[in-house]
Amino acid sequence: MSDSRLDNGWFREEDQSWPGYSISLKVEKILFQGKSEFQDILVFHSTTFGVVLVLNGIIQCTERDEFTYQEMIAHLPLNVHPNPQKVLVIGGGDGGVVREVLKYESVQNVVLCEIDQKVIDVSQKFLPTMASCLDNPRVTIHVGDGIAYVKDHLSEFDVIITDAPDPIGVAEGLYEKAFYQDMKNALKPDGVMCCQGETPWFDLPLIKRMLTDCRSIFPCVAYAVGNTPTYTGGLMGYMLCSSDLKAKLKQPLRNFTDEQLRRMNLRYYSPEMHVASFTLPLHIRETVGDV
Ligand code: SAM
Repeated sequence: MSDSRLDNGWFREEDQSWPGYSISLKVEKILFQGKSEFQDILVFHSTTFGVVLVLNGIIQCTERDEFTYQEMIAHLPLNVHPNPQKVLVIGGGDGGVVREVLKYESVQNVVLCEIDQKVIDVSQKFLPTMASCLDNPRVTIHVGDGIAYVKDHLSEFDVIITDAPDPIGVAEGLYEKAFYQDMKNALKPDGVMCCQGETPWFDLPLIKRMLTDCRSIFPCVAYAVGNTPTYTGGLMGYMLCSSDLKAKLKQPLRNFTDEQLRRMNLRYYSPEMHVASFTLPLHIRETVGDV
């Protein structure tokens, strides 16, 4: 349960999942504060990280460092699939992951399944560099629960990405074994999925459980990390799974040149970063095992 607050010109993120630790951002201007059917929503302009989206007291993204996360969670799975055409993004109402998915010309359709219309609305209003792509004709928006959505779509997607908040409230089921099995069923036989893999500084037991569950469902599972300063602990995890026994999840298929990286406006992900991100610090590897 979050105990985050606005106090004396600062936003302070606190949660019992990381007791005694807090990220604070200085507030320049509150842009939106309200409650949707599903969660508390706060959008503010910070003095150093641009516009910030906060759900239930937890920072979801900031304009300044969102690219680190959106690029990794999208390009890690897309760049190990030979021909991604149909992609499902669960959560992700800020549009950042969809923006990255659209950078692949082979992608004909991206379905965004976000439970909360209000997140889409505030993102389109206050975070246009992320959410303006949601108007793209290749994007289909489905407002609803991702858990129910995957159950109804069998063998349909080349890539599924869960851009989920922490496992609280409506997002809890997005971290359960039954959901991983349903995602496998919604993928084509050579499909790849990538999940928000939580923060190793605070969530190692959960990460271990997620990996154990997925190893019992998918023949190929791997875990990568990347730096995002406004996520707790600064280090974000990504869990990658494939139904294809021969999949090489740590090996990017497209070796983008510097010119291609520039044209795709990539600032964090590169083929070299892809490979490097699977080299885990020893203290993480000790807990999650060899992935
Ligand atoms: N990148 C962020 C992070 O790592 O914390 C998460 C981004 S945020 C846009 C995730 C979105 O998932 C929220 O907008 C939330 O409404 C949505 N969400 C939560 N539970 C969901 C569910 N069961 N089905 C679909 N979307 C869900």
